[in-house]
Amino acid sequence: MLRSLEGSMVQAPRREILLKLVFFFPLSFLTVAVAIGGDTPGVNIKVDQVGYPRSGQKIALVSAPGQTFEVKRSSDNATIFRGKLRAAAPDANSGDTLQAADFSSLQLPGKYYLEVPGVGRSWPFSVEEEVFSRTFYLAMRAFYGQRCGTAVDLGPEFPGYTHAACHLRGSFHASSGKEGPRENVGGWHDAGDYGRYMVNSGITTGTLLWAWELFGPKLGRIKLNIPETGNGNPDLLNEVRWNLEWMLKMQDDDGGVWHKQTSEHFPGFVMPEDDPLPGLVIGTGSAPYKSTCATADLAAVAAIAARVYEPYDQNFAAKNLRAAREAWTWTERYPNVTFRNPPGISTGEYGDTDCGDERLWAAAELWRTTGEPVYHRYFLDNYAQYLPNLHAPQAESWREVAPMGLWSYALATRQGADAHARAAIRQGALTAAREIVDRTRRNPYRVSLVATDYAWGSNGLAANYGVQLLFTNVLSPDPAFVETALDNLHYLLGRNTFSLSWVTQVGANPYRHPHHRPSGADKNPEPWPGLLSGGPNAARQDAVLQALPPHLPPAKIYSDNQDSYASNEVCINWQAMLVFLLAGVLP
Ligand SMILES: [Zn+2]
Repeated sequence: MLRSLEGSMVQAPRREILLKLVFFFPLSFLTVAVAIGGDTPGVNIKVDQVGYPRSGQKIALVSAPGQTFEVKRSSDNATIFRGKLRAAAPDANSGDTLQAADFSSLQLPGKYYLEVPGVGRSWPFSVEEEVFSRTFYLAMRAFYGQRCGTAVDLGPEFPGYTHAACHLRGSFHASSGKEGPRENVGGWHDAGDYGRYMVNSGITTGTLLWAWELFGPKLGRIKLNIPETGNGNPDLLNEVRWNLEWMLKMQDDDGGVWHKQTSEHFPGFVMPEDDPLPGLVIGTGSAPYKSTCATADLAAVAAIAARVYEPYDQNFAAKNLRAAREAWTWTERYPNVTFRNPPGISTGEYGDTDCGDERLWAAAELWRTTGEPVYHRYFLDNYAQYLPNLHAPQAESWREVAPMGLWSYALATRQGADAHARAAIRQGALTAAREIVDRTRRNPYRVSLVATDYAWGSNGLAANYGVQLLFTNVLSPDPAFVETALDNLHYLLGRNTFSLSWVTQVGANPYRHPHHRPSGADKNPEPWPGLLSGGPNAARQDAVLQALPPHLPPAKIYSDNQDSYASNEVCINWQAMLVFLLAGVLP
């Protein structure tokens, strides 16, 4: 029997082991547990409501005073593990005082809950080798739900989650330098709104393609039950292609790429097919009309796609490479044309005053794909100024993609790489990852977020720290990197101050009111599944957050309210970080 310093396994009689086999349900049948004995779960015991991999660290957090804890089996309330809570630690970011319950030595697969005498019980969770498979499926399939320009139906698994073909009309806005119709049907709805934005598509699509490049052998067998399933290609690549095809349509004949395609203003909370506003191709308002950030993002993403799709569809791969080259050439001519919303347009701006990092990423990916000196020279002439970005609190974001370029260069196996550059990037990445591990271990919630990280999209940032750690683990494997990435995932799935799973329809106590038009407009009682919430945001840019009590600590400034777009919106780039994080921790 396994033992830990603070906890002990309780000997399970043979009958219970048999019961375990009988009551062992796959995660797809995970349902809300019925409280046995009249005890309902409360927010004071925080667990990852999906669960914990069998062999890894298993820690719950308790925010009310207690001494001991028990892990009980959901099927028969048998105590499987007993332990002592660790010493209390105050957490400044939430105002909570936390005691850790460590039951890492429990490796018996099953469904459990925690009980703390005098405090109560937790929501249920599983211990299982492939514990996050179902969450990965839902998170990746959520992109299918965001498809624009086609009818969507989540099928018998989620009856009623459908929308008709949407946004089939489109035209050039005066700011694009052209006029007349331009449908550009396709792509993913960006977030809670129905816009499509090149810059946010760039990091999203790049991150998903990277997940495939780094973890493809684990992901190839996962079917997403989308229209293309069974066509012989991996489903992740099938889904990503839906957005890539739209990105390619946003490229003008001269190689430049328009910044976005949205309506003039946000529509009301209607289903996408009921949005009457045409999708306008929007440009910078004066020559050359396209923006450098959007164009360089396409160059980077299409260069990755040229590598990734080559084994499956050579014509599509070649089309991407052509697009990437033409986009790069355009950015040589126009190295920093930035974008601001033209008069009359009030949708998301995704403004960025410096497109140098986008160009660095594009150069790295183009060199990695082609080996050609023009891209290599640009990268080597420019990378050094971006090395400090590897240590920035927020390593990469839609606005700051230099780390993507640096990491890609460090990963390339191509001959002729500059040894000095590779060593410098590797050293920077490792130092940053070790700092994140150290501060996460010291953080009472075991999350990598620092006080200033509780801004718009803080949950995406928590996932992003996981991406950074898992990437570094590919570069230089260290179990602490994976463990800390998992800590951030546990935070998102319920081990947080609200005891809330921030992925819709995942876990027994998920958030339920995302700022997401289909979820708000349809007749289904629950929101569309698999969507990550933006999370706590101390900047309070909406009226819901402004109405919360003053002086709340930053991690508490959140509301599960559809109107709180600043803390409860969904967004494809956070979603991509979540998918990458889940892909990286799948066995
Ligand atoms: Zn649409």
